[in-house]
Amino acid sequence: MSGRMTSVSVRMWPMTITWLRLGLVLVACVLSWPADAARLGEARYRELKRVLVLHSFGREFRPWSEYARSIKAELERQSLWPLDVQEHTLLTARFNNPGPEAPFVEYLGSLYQGAQPDIVLSIGAPAARFVQKYRMKLFPDAPMVLSAVEHRLVNRADLTGNDVVVSIRNDFMAAFDNILRLLPDTRTAAIVIGASPLEKFWVDEVKRELKPLEGRLDLVWYSDLSFEQILKRASELPPHSVLFWGLMSVDGAGIVHEGDLALRSLHAVANAPIFSYQEPFFGGSTVGGPMHSVDETSRKTVNAVMRILGGEKPESIKYEPIEFAPPKYDWRELQRWGISESRLPPGSEVVFRDPNIWQRYRWQMLLISAVFLVQAGLISGLLHERQRRRVAEVESRQRLAELAHANRYSAVGELTTSIAHELNQPLGSILTNAETAELMLKSASPDISELRQILADIRRDDQRASEVIRRLRSVLKKTPFEIKQIELNDTVREAIGLVRAVADGRRITLTYMPVQADLPIKGDPVQLQQVVLNLIINAIDAISDADAGKREVSVSTARAGNQAEVRVTDTGPGIAASDLTNVFDPFFTTKSQGMGMGLAIATTIIEAHHGTVAAANQPAGGALFTIRLPIAR
Ligand code: ADP
Repeated sequence: MSGRMTSVSVRMWPMTITWLRLGLVLVACVLSWPADAARLGEARYRELKRVLVLHSFGREFRPWSEYARSIKAELERQSLWPLDVQEHTLLTARFNNPGPEAPFVEYLGSLYQGAQPDIVLSIGAPAARFVQKYRMKLFPDAPMVLSAVEHRLVNRADLTGNDVVVSIRNDFMAAFDNILRLLPDTRTAAIVIGASPLEKFWVDEVKRELKPLEGRLDLVWYSDLSFEQILKRASELPPHSVLFWGLMSVDGAGIVHEGDLALRSLHAVANAPIFSYQEPFFGGSTVGGPMHSVDETSRKTVNAVMRILGGEKPESIKYEPIEFAPPKYDWRELQRWGISESRLPPGSEVVFRDPNIWQRYRWQMLLISAVFLVQAGLISGLLHERQRRRVAEVESRQRLAELAHANRYSAVGELTTSIAHELNQPLGSILTNAETAELMLKSASPDISELRQILADIRRDDQRASEVIRRLRSVLKKTPFEIKQIELNDTVREAIGLVRAVADGRRITLTYMPVQADLPIKGDPVQLQQVVLNLIINAIDAISDADAGKREVSVSTARAGNQAEVRVTDTGPGIAASDLTNVFDPFFTTKSQGMGMGLAIATTIIEAHHGTVAAANQPAGGALFTIRLPIAR
């Protein structure tokens, strides 16, 4: 049994391994299939593509150098293939002299013999003409993209189905419309174009296109001048002139000018703004306007290259000549030549603006602004607070005046007897005098001089009665708190006049000893009178009717430094030591009919006058109240 089992298992093993292997291979195939397929699909993109770039004037010769730079950068960015970009420079094209071309052609021929580039890319008209001329000899099968060629310079006769043209259109009239729009007073335009055959071609073209401007502008041509002479002329242009920068590869003296060095030299000395229609010259030297955009040309060129490398037939790829891009201006040049931005055509872009202080010191300015804002907030908060405090002060004075008025009524209540007494006296005298006069008139020979004396007495008594009423009215008058310049001695005297009869009625001697000096203060006389009145009434109240000893209330004034003082003393029992601090509290009273508001109001009034009021006991007995007020300067 066991042997059979073994043999079965022995027979089974090889089969199991075979199936396993098969399964593994299948799994491996399934797993690896998508990656392989993708790799196969991408294989065509791994193939190296050789791009021959032919420059017209030199690798650093503007404007073409900028076209070349932009095209190469765009190629790198867009290419699906690894690229081998080989660049050659057709220096000879500058002179349009076919003589020295031969060795260069030989050189290229030996380079590309049997290994033609995948695509030939020419930049500028001379390079285009060269590749068209020598294509059969050098690279008969290579497709060609002729880029950055002005459409007038395209050699259409030699174009083949293997070529794509990316041309541009120079619109000199548009360039001059821009100049005249910005500077309508322009009278002279000096045109800087060199003396090479290509430049001569352009001089003729510009002349032809600008014919309509002949009457309006004085066109000056610099083609026959050496660059030195051009610089000199450009520095002495008459007012209302502009310079139009076309191209400067060879000057009138046969000197070659490379790069934009020439333009920068011109900019340094020119006494007029420089205009150009090529974006590569923009940014530092020219004002701007509608120009050929490098981006637009390089985008179309690279698009053509990619399509050709991708297998598309060149003849099916066609582009219209590229026009000027929307106008762009250099802010610094606009400033320099006083050109208002309002003159720029709609949709213009202004670049190279000087960063203003906000852009340059953004954080610092934000911080400063924040500090200013906080400060402004604090100031306005404080002002608001001050305003509120003023309103509160005015309101509190108003309340004080009202309260004091009510308190005066109660004080006057106490004075009723005394006032009646004061009025009765003069009125009684008037009556007696009038009766005496009547009797005298009944006699046969009245004594006229006696009668005159009686009438004088009547008048004096009448005045006394009027004075009592005036004082009473002045105390009871409801007036708002009103500060004025007053003499404190007089104010105290008035108060004493009011209360004298009360003291008399209570058999109390009321004395007043004013200081022999002026006590000018600033205050409300009615309010201050009330305070003095209150202190005197309290002093009178303190002396009990039963007290048989010395019954005296003394009021005196004094000057202590720059303070005026009013002292009120009495011969009463004085204030209990424990009450000395409480007597000024509202509603503190030891009297059965008292309200306890008199001293509280007195304190408030005196404090409103920036003064103090204090209570003490005299060593010999009796209370002493002292008011101190600042002397007014
Ligand atoms: P009122 O006169 O209604 O009591 P005041 O505020 O004028 O209210 O006085 C408060 C208290 O101060 C008095 O009740 C009294 O006890 C005490 N007082 C004021 N003046 C004198 C004084 N000259 N002698 C003794 N006590 C006084």
